[in-house]
Amino acid sequence: MYVPLLDLKAQYQKIKEEIKKAIDEVLESQRFILGPKVEELEKNIAKYSDTKYAIGVSSGTDALLVSLMAFEIKPGDEIITTPFTFFSTAGVIARLNAVPVFIDIDPVTYNIDSNKLRDLIEFKAKNSKFRIKCIIPVHLFGQCADMAPILEIARKYNIYVLEDAAQSIGAEYPFSSTVKKAGSMGDTGIFSFFPSKNLGGFGDGGMVVTNDENLYQKIKMLRVHGAEPKYYHKMIGGNFRLDALQAAVLNVKLKYLNEWSKKRRENAEYYNKRFEEEGLIGKGYIKVPVPVFKNKCNNYHIFNQYTIRAKERDKLREFLKENSIGTEIYYPIPLHLQKCFQYLGYKKGDFPVSEEASKSVLSLPIYPELSNEQKEYVIEKIKEFYKRK
Ligand SMILES: *Cc1c(COP(=O)(O)O)cnc(C)c1O
Repeated sequence: MYVPLLDLKAQYQKIKEEIKKAIDEVLESQRFILGPKVEELEKNIAKYSDTKYAIGVSSGTDALLVSLMAFEIKPGDEIITTPFTFFSTAGVIARLNAVPVFIDIDPVTYNIDSNKLRDLIEFKAKNSKFRIKCIIPVHLFGQCADMAPILEIARKYNIYVLEDAAQSIGAEYPFSSTVKKAGSMGDTGIFSFFPSKNLGGFGDGGMVVTNDENLYQKIKMLRVHGAEPKYYHKMIGGNFRLDALQAAVLNVKLKYLNEWSKKRRENAEYYNKRFEEEGLIGKGYIKVPVPVFKNKCNNYHIFNQYTIRAKERDKLREFLKENSIGTEIYYPIPLHLQKCFQYLGYKKGDFPVSEEASKSVLSLPIYPELSNEQKEYVIEKIKEFYKRK
């Protein structure tokens, strides 16, 4: 049996006709840059994520970058984030000559440790040269970071919050009296439409969402080289536009997103239950992802990735590969140990939780169209691997 990490062909087969029709409309209109399809998607995404405004942009990375540009981040400003994320979260900080300041993660959620975050900010606030301008919490693998304490400390010190929800569109976070959507809690939130995300386009694309009208106007302007009106440049922006063709595809796919996320969640529950039954968890061979903010809302973890901790991870991965099961390591090297960030002066041992995670995590197939036979095959092969020991 063949179980790929992700099977986009299976998804496409079900919505082919609708997609082709939507693409054809764009082809007939010959309007490829921004335009009505992009505006429609912006409205849909704003509604979906419970925000007032949405701005379609060229990628998740550019959504991060343009947010920081709208915050008017200056060289030397410090921006706090996690070292256990996709590169671009910190890459955009460095590209503006600002300084990425890393904080270790929580070992269960893999998201930034809010206690350590608070401690660092309180410590730095005693210094007269307080330069922290922004926090970028990442909602990794489909689960929100612990936003309540993050927002509290950010408000206290007047720090921007940029939610990196590239992997978490539709995820929810429970406050004491209300539940909020990923992307709607910070000053801005960003989504990526990279094909492997839960809402994936047919190429690159991204979105910024915000409730702040001023930021909305600025980001819209920055998206077109900072011009308003055309050829009158108030700020130095870039070409951060989203293609109409991508928007057309995404408008169709968005209708199915909740259903797909629900199936991912069901797959995750299935794995959790079966791994437990097979004694793989009790014996300490693997640890499964456990939702942390339990039952306060239906939809909080949307499982862009189902990431286990595995004993002898690399050998297990090799064994699964030999048996035609696709897996991936998100992420093998935490950002503070990447060559390009050597100049920041971090060293091995600075963030032990992230470093340990990078050695033991393994993401398994979790996509919505996965059959029970395929899941059973994955479980069977993992069992077989540890039994041989
Ligand atoms: C995918 C991803 C991005 C970047 O999105 P692109 O659309 O690929 O530029 C940023 N942050 C995280 C956490 C991601 O997973």
